[in-house]
Amino acid sequence: MVEKYRMFIGGRWVESSSRETFDVRNPATEEVIANVPLGTKEDAKSAIDAARETFDSGAWSNKTPAERSLILWKLAALVEANARKIATLESMNVGKTIKYSRDSDLPFIIDNLRFFAGAARLLEGKSASEYSGLGTSIIRREPIGVVVGVVPWNYPLYIAVWKMAPALAAGNTVVIKPASLTPLTLLEFAKLAQIAGVPDGVLNVVTGPGEVIGEELATSPNVDMISLTGDTSTGKKIMQMASGNLKKVHLELGGKAPFIVLDDANIDAATEGAVVAAFWNSGQDCTAATRVYVHESIHDEFVKLLVEKAQNIRIGDPLDERTDMGPLVSGKQRERIEVYVRSGIEEGANLVHGGKRPENLKKGYFFEPTIFTGVEQKMRICQEEIFGPVLSVSGFSTVDEAVEKANDVIYGLASSVWGKDITDLVRIANRLKYGTVWINEHGVLTSETPHGGFKQSGFGKDLSLYSFEEYTQVKHIYIDQTGSVRKPWYYTVYGEK
Ligand code: NAD
Repeated sequence: MVEKYRMFIGGRWVESSSRETFDVRNPATEEVIANVPLGTKEDAKSAIDAARETFDSGAWSNKTPAERSLILWKLAALVEANARKIATLESMNVGKTIKYSRDSDLPFIIDNLRFFAGAARLLEGKSASEYSGLGTSIIRREPIGVVVGVVPWNYPLYIAVWKMAPALAAGNTVVIKPASLTPLTLLEFAKLAQIAGVPDGVLNVVTGPGEVIGEELATSPNVDMISLTGDTSTGKKIMQMASGNLKKVHLELGGKAPFIVLDDANIDAATEGAVVAAFWNSGQDCTAATRVYVHESIHDEFVKLLVEKAQNIRIGDPLDERTDMGPLVSGKQRERIEVYVRSGIEEGANLVHGGKRPENLKKGYFFEPTIFTGVEQKMRICQEEIFGPVLSVSGFSTVDEAVEKANDVIYGLASSVWGKDITDLVRIANRLKYGTVWINEHGVLTSETPHGGFKQSGFGKDLSLYSFEEYTQVKHIYIDQTGSVRKPWYYTVYGEK
């Protein structure tokens, strides 16, 4: 059955102004599962206008923090009550396994809504004091205004919530644009937001191509902030487009995470972690482990165990409880992975596992977990973000070499280091130019801990109170305490002291 969706603008469910629609497919079956409005520039403008009017009216920002908090709590409860349905839809749309969307994405989404519902009541300025000696300073945080969120396809609702929850908790109004491949769960979420009592115009969802809608959202002078999670090249374009009215820019971009294994590491634990970190969500994760650097003394044993564990991954229908890895999100994404695999072979890396479409799955955009060894630093598979189930392994002989190679990419999102001696591990963690370094683990995120990149992985944080601060601006209010007509420092203009 093909479900027909509408966009959500100003509290109304609307068609595209052009009446055109586009198809959304299930990547496991290649079948069309939904039909969604192909939004236009005019639709993007309407959504911005609705968000602008609502913000300026104070209908949301003038609510007490407790009132906004309560609505977010209700929304979290509604998402929880509908979690199974949303998780299934996410699996059908992205191709991620049901155990992953149900047991990871959805609980995190609900927790994140609750975290920011709580945080709404804790927004505070840093201090209030008599810094000048003549008056009192109040330092407060205020919402920024109209915030645009632009979301990728790998975690459609999860990443949208990372943006919406702090933005709404702080009192902003939001226009959010899902990736064209995966708009469905965000549209379902907007239905729940309406039921939870989010006022009309506070949350708006526009569907359609990034080049059309995204550009309107990024260039509009009526938007105060744009937060993108996406490719580094998209981030660069958005930054340029946002410069017209100097809107605040928040960018969570690509990654190429290193995974360093020292000679004293527990090889069983490290290989267990590497397989999960490389192949969860079919490797379509910005923090996915993509480059293993393993000490040469344990290299061969590590690779043997790694391949054995990767062989056990069961590929297939994402809705089957036993499936460990679903398809890639689209045919285009699979072709991209195939280009990288060919380039790895051509540049001389050794393909030791996978590297092709599974023979038993004729329908769906499936691709086998793939492992290369003998990967050299200059190779494309080592330098560029592949965004699929491809892991490269290289040996190293000294810690300096491992750190240098780990840092030798344009990205700086996430990394990990595995070993026994905590002093060594922390010393290495300090030298890694990444926004996150996990020690003897790879991939753990929580609502309380910041997530965000260094270098060309972007700037600004998702998650945690740091992300809450991103969606606010700081105001200083000064109250004169002297009560005098001529304040002591006015002599600088009115004659001598
Ligand atoms: P993408 O950059 O192609 O698209 C992301 C979003 O931007 C989509 O909604 C798209 O429609 C929109 N967009 C595309 N071109 C645009 C333009 N010119 N103007 C405005 N909007 C535009 O990325 P993707 O393929 O959907 O997602 C994969 C990328 O996202 C990878 O690079 C991955 O590393 C990154 N990512 C980063 C994080 C993080 O937290 N840093 C998390 C997940 C994904």
